[in-house]
Amino acid sequence: MPRSTRWPSSRSTTTLGHELYVTLESCLLCWAAIRIARVPLVHFAGPDPQWRFLGQLAGPQPALVDRATSMDGPMAGPFGAWATLLPLVERLWRDPTGIRIDHFRQSVPALVDLAEQIVSDGTAARFVGWTQQEALASIWDDLVAAAG
Ligand SMILES: [Zn+2]
Repeated sequence: MPRSTRWPSSRSTTTLGHELYVTLESCLLCWAAIRIARVPLVHFAGPDPQWRFLGQLAGPQPALVDRATSMDGPMAGPFGAWATLLPLVERLWRDPTGIRIDHFRQSVPALVDLAEQIVSDGTAARFVGWTQQEALASIWDDLVAAAG
């Protein structure tokens, strides 16, 4: 019997009551996958200002009305800052310019400054061989200050 290529029925209840925990606010691809999977609640730690507008798309769209997802985040304090800092570091390694960095610089300038600092002084490169606890401890005071 061939596998079905149909999307889940709109009456599917397999994800009712499920919650998803993620580090960063959803990008476009994650946003779509979450709605296709009908995940009703997503908790995210760090803000991603580039994709903030996605939260405004679901409301009046008939195709999305039964695929509503509540978003809970970002976390306040250093853990939320950490969740945003790591993707910023990765982005700065690949491409230190562009619209993505511009969005972050407008929204969380202290975190962009910290990310640029730890990339340029080599701290971020040392994270690769460390545990998350070691990496967090190495910049905890800076994260607290950047989280404001
Ligand atoms: Zn994503």
